[in-house]
Amino acid sequence: MSESTFMGVDREKIDWCPTIDYSKCNDCMDCVEFCPHQVFEVREDQTPKLIVKNPNNCVVFCRACSKTCGLDALSFPDKTETTKKIKATRKAEKAKKEAGE
Ligand code: SF4
Ligand code: SF4
Repeated sequence: MSESTFMGVDREKIDWCPTIDYSKCNDCMDCVEFCPHQVFEVREDQTPKLIVKNPNNCVVFCRACSKTCGLDALSFPDKTETTKKIKATRKAEKAKKEAGE
């Protein structure tokens, strides 16, 4: 369980991690080797073999692993939309706090 925050919002409330397009992925595992944050998990003898196990370990706004994927199988949420959502969450939490909730 992560206790980190990003822009003042709990990481767990931020929807940012890679999505794997299994129609493109060939299980080369270059992304797994590249990412130092244990976001992915490789499950030998299971299908799909590669999963996003720890989405909250992904660094918000990082997309670096997608550049290692020659098959373009990794995608991320829209950055502008995510920023908007983070700001809205922060505003709502501030209002709650001020209301004494
Ligand atoms: S780098 Fe791309 S093709 Fe290779 S395992 Fe990761 S998502 Fe799949
Ligand atoms: S975007 Fe960055 S932190 Fe997230 S899985 Fe890819 S390399 Fe790891």
